Amino acid sequence: MAETVTELDRLRAFADELIGDSADSWDRAGTIPEEIVRKAGARGLMCAQVPERHGGLGLSSADNGELTAFVGSRCSSLRSLMTSQGMAAWTVQRLGDRKQRAALLPRLAGGEQAAVAFSEPGAGSDLSAMATRIEPDGDRVVVTGEKVWITAACYAEHLVVFGRYGDGTAAVVVPAHAEGVRVERVPEPLGCRAAGHARVRLDGVRVPAAEVLGGAGQSTELLVSTALAYGRMSVAWGCAGILRGALASVSRHARTRTQFGKPLAGHQLVARHVAELLAAEQTATRVCAHASHCWDTRSPEVVSATVLAKYVSSRHAAAGAATAVQVLASAGAQESHPVARAYRDAKLMEIIEGSNEICELLLAEHALSVHA
Ligand SMILES: Cc1cc2nc3c(=O)[nH]c(=O)nc-3n(C[C@H](O)[C@H](O)[C@H](O)COP(=O)(O)OP(=O)(O)OC[C@H]3O[C@@H](n4cnc5c(N)ncnc54)[C@H](O)[C@@H]3O)c2cc1C
Repeated sequence: MAETVTELDRLRAFADELIGDSADSWDRAGTIPEEIVRKAGARGLMCAQVPERHGGLGLSSADNGELTAFVGSRCSSLRSLMTSQGMAAWTVQRLGDRKQRAALLPRLAGGEQAAVAFSEPGAGSDLSAMATRIEPDGDRVVVTGEKVWITAACYAEHLVVFGRYGDGTAAVVVPAHAEGVRVERVPEPLGCRAAGHARVRLDGVRVPAAEVLGGAGQSTELLVSTALAYGRMSVAWGCAGILRGALASVSRHARTRTQFGKPLAGHQLVARHVAELLAAEQTATRVCAHASHCWDTRSPEVVSATVLAKYVSSRHAAAGAATAVQVLASAGAQESHPVARAYRDAKLMEIIEGSNEICELLLAEHALSVHA
């Protein structure tokens, strides 16, 4: 019987061809060619979970997760652009009104790149300290502030900017090329070097008030947790991908490299590394699949399951990528090797979308409320 080819299969094949063996050269250049980003966007790869009625591919969280893991196994920079784009689209879908969804989602689903800006020099883990101001001025709002480490900002046409609005918080969609916006690339990031991280200065940027998503003056926690829910899920699946890539490199090397008269895999201490990597990859995949299942079934458990997925997967990815470098030893000890890149990229995953410590605080809070 002929096997059915799914949309997920087609998207993976497309991503495979698009990335080819270019991830290393993109990492070295610190940028992904515009044409690649455009093609990925036009195919719907960047935010494949956007519903079909809004011009997206309507993938489930589980399928989008597998797609994200596939791209993450090959190129964490392109995967980072997917995370930002998906997070922007999810923010519009959840916080925007009907008119805003109809206006923005088809553009994002069609490939107009977006970045999401919370972090500031004085507001990293503590986003209640955001100082960016969004102030009403007739039928416009004026946005003033400074955002740091904004993934994808160097590629973006749209910036979803979070800031203070009266006594509350708001998210506003700002054209990246509007007067008063300055995007300054972060020099030499440790990893995900082609993900277009930038400092974004907003100097009295005037945008129509209609671009404030779902009205102004909402709770910071609600706005931020809505956007981060998607970001955490996406990073978690990306980390499962990093582990898959590391496991493949390690398995190939351990079978083919001979020392002391037998393949490395024949030495039990090396075999243990392989076993640990497999366990890490399987653990990450399962915890991500559970979180996506909660997302797809609209389970109230989705919030804690997503934090758990991000926490578990990023820790395993950072440890697993280090193990991969250990097994490949000198063969993996050059910047251009995929395991070396994975090692640098994975470390950053323990910092973003809620650092390990912030995830631990959230998980402890959850445990204390549920299990006490
Ligand atoms: C590669 C990369 C991509 C990023 N992309 C984006 C993006 O697209 N958009 C965006 O808005 N931001 C982005 N960021 C910023 C990111 O969200 C922040 O770096 C992150 O929230 C941590 O903030 P910080 O770096 O200021 O560290 P800090 O908040 O200063 O924390 C420093 C250390 O203290 C710990 N810590 C802080 N508070 C506590 C506490 N209460 N209890 C225990 N430990 C604590 C932290 O876990 C960390 O280990 C990105 C960052 C990186 C590195």
